[in-house]
Amino acid sequence: MEINEYQNRTQDTAVYPGGGEKGGFEYTLFGLCGEAGELANKYKKVLRNQDTYLNNAGKLADELGDVLWYVARLAAELGYTLEEVASFNIDKLAIRKQYNELKNHGSDQ
Ligand SMILES: [Mg+2]
Repeated sequence: MEINEYQNRTQDTAVYPGGGEKGGFEYTLFGLCGEAGELANKYKKVLRNQDTYLNNAGKLADELGDVLWYVARLAAELGYTLEEVASFNIDKLAIRKQYNELKNHGSDQ
């Protein structure tokens, strides 16, 4: 599945309040934060059980998928395709690498 096809298909399960100035922006932003927290919490339980992330890759990938869903919907709320967001990010990092700035770049990466 192509990345933009995935984003388009998330629309089928996007059931949340939209419209207005903030529309679904806040809903998807907070949802993304929540799912990232769920991913971290799953890994916390892996650590608590003295297990490894590789032994729990399926469970962690499931939560990662939830994160991806919200990333896709948040990008849509901002008016971007996932491919555009991915391209912006790859281009930004390539420039940082070109100038040897991948490490210690500050607070945004
Ligand atoms: Mg989840």
